[in-house]
Amino acid sequence: MQIKRSFRFIFSLVLAISLVWVSLNPVNSLATALTSQGVQNTFPSSETNLVAQAKVGEFVLPPLPYAYDALAPYIDSETMTFHHDKHHAGYVKNLNGAISKHPELKGKSVEALLRDLSNLPEDIRSTVRNNGGGHANHTMFWEIMTPDSQGQPTGPIASAINDTFGDFETFKQEFNTAGKKRFGSGWAWLVLTKDGTLEVTSTANQDSPFLDGNYPIMGNDVWEHAYYLNYQNRRGDYLDAWWSVVNWEEVNQRFEQAQDSLKS
Ligand code: MN
Repeated sequence: MQIKRSFRFIFSLVLAISLVWVSLNPVNSLATALTSQGVQNTFPSSETNLVAQAKVGEFVLPPLPYAYDALAPYIDSETMTFHHDKHHAGYVKNLNGAISKHPELKGKSVEALLRDLSNLPEDIRSTVRNNGGGHANHTMFWEIMTPDSQGQPTGPIASAINDTFGDFETFKQEFNTAGKKRFGSGWAWLVLTKDGTLEVTSTANQDSPFLDGNYPIMGNDVWEHAYYLNYQNRRGDYLDAWWSVVNWEEVNQRFEQAQDSLKS
């Protein structure tokens, strides 16, 4: 009995000390484990990104600038999750695979690769066209959307749209028609052409406007993967709804970049 009692005492003592220890070290080790394995992989800090890029010269899947469900009801959470985590991630992986075969290309921007596609080694040319295009197009796509859309164009792009197309409604219709008429998979675009004019265009597959020397100011993804879960075959409804999530501030920034790129 005596032995049993002292054993129980020692056991309780150890338990008490453990509890005090845990409460004094508030989930530090657990938090560290989560940060280094889960959270940072999903949303890499810019520092981690830079380190990763510097190490291997690779392209990195950028994190979504908002939550997966932030654009609902216009774009649902499940579509955003698959679209970003699976489709875009796939383009990045395939692009890195192609570049790893030609280390001399490491460090080039995806824009530079696409603008100079015809001079790339032939064995990776179509992979870069499809997956480099996919990476550039989707990186733009996430950025030109926001849950806090202004609804209407603002700033310099608003004036430029009015000057070129007459008014926003006419531009919107022309853009949506480009998206509706794209047979199969592709994109509808507003580009700044080499000649410095605004134009509504459409490309097939993941072809980037950079391939033709045009600057993609804004584009909408009309691949079925972008809308089918929510809109099924109603591409027109998706195109109409999409204007509710356009980030005109970002579109203005891209308009500025497009004009700068003409000067250089
Ligand atoms: Mn897509």
